Amino acid sequence: MSRRVYHDEDGQPYYELICDGCRCRLACTDDSCYDWDLLRAVAESDGWDLAAARPTGPHRCRACALARSDAEPPQPAYA
Ligand SMILES: [Zn+2]
Repeated sequence: MSRRVYHDEDGQPYYELICDGCRCRLACTDDSCYDWDLLRAVAESDGWDLAAARPTGPHRCRACALARSDAEPPQPAYA
């Protein structure tokens, strides 16, 4: 669970996306943190691996997504 929901002083919910690998936080530079779908799109364009963008994760930043794909090459499928 790496999506966090907060409320600002007006009671508006906003979201924070935390990497499940290194615990870094997606930098939100505009109003996209007020909309999960928008924030997700920002993250994906930044290279985050959002595992089909489920709110519960796992979510990985670009660095962790790359490290993970290096560490776990695709396995051949044996049927
Ligand atoms: Zn990370």
